[in-house]
Amino acid sequence: MSFDSIQQKDQEYIMHTYGRYPVALDHGKNATCYDTNGKEYIDMTSGIGVNALGFSDKGWIDAITAQLHKLQHTSNLYYTTPCGEVAKLVCEKSGMKKMFFANSGAEANEGVIKAARKYSFTKYGHGRNTIIALENSFHGRTMATLSATGQDAYHNYFFPFVNGFVFAKANDLEDTISKLTGDVCAIIMEMVQGEGGVLPLDKEYVKAIYDICKEKDILFIVDEVQTGVGRTGSFFSYQQFGIQPDLVSCAKGLGGGLPIGGVLFGEKTENCLVAGDHGSTFGGNPVVCAGSIEILNRLNDEFLADVKKKGEFLRKEISSMPHVTDIAGMGMMLGISLDVDTKEVIQKCLDSGLMVLSAKTKVRLLPPLTITRKELEKGLTILAEVLKNM
Ligand SMILES: *Cc1c(COP(=O)(O)O)cnc(C)c1O
Repeated sequence: MSFDSIQQKDQEYIMHTYGRYPVALDHGKNATCYDTNGKEYIDMTSGIGVNALGFSDKGWIDAITAQLHKLQHTSNLYYTTPCGEVAKLVCEKSGMKKMFFANSGAEANEGVIKAARKYSFTKYGHGRNTIIALENSFHGRTMATLSATGQDAYHNYFFPFVNGFVFAKANDLEDTISKLTGDVCAIIMEMVQGEGGVLPLDKEYVKAIYDICKEKDILFIVDEVQTGVGRTGSFFSYQQFGIQPDLVSCAKGLGGGLPIGGVLFGEKTENCLVAGDHGSTFGGNPVVCAGSIEILNRLNDEFLADVKKKGEFLRKEISSMPHVTDIAGMGMMLGISLDVDTKEVIQKCLDSGLMVLSAKTKVRLLPPLTITRKELEKGLTILAEVLKNM
């Protein structure tokens, strides 16, 4: 099928909620992919941090295929093998105690919101249900997670939003502490704000708020949807901040390309939900979980050290390129500030065979964790050439 007919069908029948680039992707291997015209691209997006093992990883495909030949879905009324194994591996790697399966990041955040409110209601009754979120955060597109998102641009048209969210200034200790009043049950934050522009939180700020929350029995929630599953060079990003949250949400990279979301419960919250409190038809799907096991087994210390090393290599190479004024982020989650138009740079990269993302005014890189040195170098050469000609 020609690109024009693909685009025409999309124009006619798809609800236009995305501004798509004029490219139709067809197939790929690791961090290299091809469009329907056979043009090659180096992928530094991972489908927005999803394809942890790149395109069409053999081990991942084998795991999924083997499970597909056994059964594709049951329901959560019966036990299956893969979901328990995913939960065990994630808990072991994170220090969390229990896991609930959802199907996306927004759903995982719905789960942490419900869990935080139930924990507080059971212990303190009515009136202690406010959740503090940070300005410039992003937590999802459902009604509750939009309400928890600290960006005014998202708070339009869909009134009324969900009550009970108050916003504090990220990295502002005094402002955040002033919001931790008697009606607050939890605080939620991303260790590196992704959609907000790849902005890492200060370690001292996080640790100080964490300590105060502990004192006041305010639950500390970390949204690891974008930062989790190896992206920042540790399994979860909070592990580099010296804290152990009460609730964690994760998604994107956990499925390697199939839909999954996870709510993780710590010591305080591990018994807060009981039968009937929460559920999901697809949550814990055995095929998705079989692929996830493959990812989790691959993400050992050596793999994570390699993610860090590749992140440092990217930083070093990019910092000497023209028009680059700053590089922020952790591991292979990087935001590049430029003194030229970001949109134009991204379009020119695409034209030259390199896929990159934006985050606010920055160029954002989220390469597959398995990207090879050769693919990195190929992508960097394209980026350098584009920047040189700006
Ligand atoms: C992407 C993202 C979400 C939403 O995930 P979906 O799977 O799109 O619902 C939530 N929080 C953060 C930090 C994200 O980056």
